[in-house]
Amino acid sequence: MKRKTALLDLDGTLLPIDIDEFTGNYFTLLREEFADTFAGDKFIGNLMLATKSMIENDGAKSNKEVFVEHFFALMESDNREEIMRRFDLFYLEKFPRLGADIKENPLSRRLVKGLKEKGYQLVLATNSLFPIQALKERLRWANVDPDDFVLITDYETMHYSKPNINYYREILQLLDLQPEYCLMIGNDVQEDLVAVRLGIKTFLVTDYLINRTGEEPQCHWQGSLEELLKYFQILE
Ligand SMILES: [Mg+2]
Repeated sequence: MKRKTALLDLDGTLLPIDIDEFTGNYFTLLREEFADTFAGDKFIGNLMLATKSMIENDGAKSNKEVFVEHFFALMESDNREEIMRRFDLFYLEKFPRLGADIKENPLSRRLVKGLKEKGYQLVLATNSLFPIQALKERLRWANVDPDDFVLITDYETMHYSKPNINYYREILQLLDLQPEYCLMIGNDVQEDLVAVRLGIKTFLVTDYLINRTGEEPQCHWQGSLEELLKYFQILE
């Protein structure tokens, strides 16, 4: 399909957060929530290992299936249904608290609306490690409407994660897209710019730049979110 499509990253791109600080607060809240059931250090350690297994997913199962399989094996728990129900409730009831200290960048909403007005369909190309409820909640922190996206890459839908190139291949296949009509907008040199290998154009947003290796970014364009809006003539 030749429809112009913009793939937008969330953390550090649309949502102005320091990912390490956010992750710390998130684990603290989860640890409290499950304090009556799991020992804290083992719980968080195994959550991280199960998350790593999603990042290494070879595509045979959904990321959620891989997470559930690894997490419950590591915890030596067979109480899957009840625990997964509690995770779902956590994302609905407690997770929203983490947004209290996060201030939206008003440019994010303008970018989303502006790209749509210019005829782009939008994909939320955030790493596919979370349930849909958590991703929609974080979009709301950015004051961005989840309904503006034709696809949100949640852990139930996706079979790969960034920086696996197959994550981007799966998006192209799901929406029947041609890479030359797509552009990826993100803040992470390793996770987001890998899309260029499929022929997707890439825009590196530098406000919350992540570059683990210090390599020279290979992208079509780079600049701040404000400069990005000017590039698309959304801001004059
Ligand atoms: Mg990011």
